[in-house]
Amino acid sequence: MVITEIFKSIQGEGTRAGLPCIFVRLTGCNLRCVWCDTAYAFHGGTRFTLDKILEKVAELAGNGASRISLVEITGGEPLLQPETPALAERLLAAGYTVMIETSGERFIGTLPRDVIKIVDVKCPDSGETDTFNDQNLAALGLEDEVKFVIASRRDYDFARDFAASHQLAASVRQVLFSPVFADPEGRWPGLDARELAEWILSDGLPVRLGLQLHKFIWDPATKGV
Ligand code: SF4
Repeated sequence: MVITEIFKSIQGEGTRAGLPCIFVRLTGCNLRCVWCDTAYAFHGGTRFTLDKILEKVAELAGNGASRISLVEITGGEPLLQPETPALAERLLAAGYTVMIETSGERFIGTLPRDVIKIVDVKCPDSGETDTFNDQNLAALGLEDEVKFVIASRRDYDFARDFAASHQLAASVRQVLFSPVFADPEGRWPGLDARELAEWILSDGLPVRLGLQLHKFIWDPATKGV
């Protein structure tokens, strides 16, 4: 497989935010979201066998009572690489809780059922709207999470209407609304989390406001955290 980085950090997003986690970042993505904060994973990378990935994850996870049991496969877009389902299977067999972060454009049904899928639905201001694979709606399970990254009021209205029309709150573990974090180099603006919180409260939506914890803990431009 082609890997950009494997590292240990704190899970920054979703219902497991704050937990220690090993991240396996796969190289390559077929989308180009305006506010993408992992463009460094588009190209390059290093070839790893599945054995070598498992070895590196085990080395970072440690042993005994303090062993880290959470692993996230991310990217880039991890479902572009055909070995990804096999990697997930191997990590599950090794006893890890396995999550995958995907753009929503690829079909998630190729993954083992026990993998926790965090599936994006791209909003209009991402520049990649209409890329969501509708087959994923039927493939989502009660442990999965659906995430909308929101840059504007237009994105918020889209996310609210999409979640309601597909009754997402009842069919997954959590619907996440995350404000775009401003680019540290000024290439795109962020959305004020307070503004998003007020819209959610005003509409009484059954969603969780997601903040990228790692960007508050470390410098927002830091890679590998
Ligand atoms: S899908 Fe993810 S990795 Fe790909 S461009 Fe969008 S944010 Fe970046």
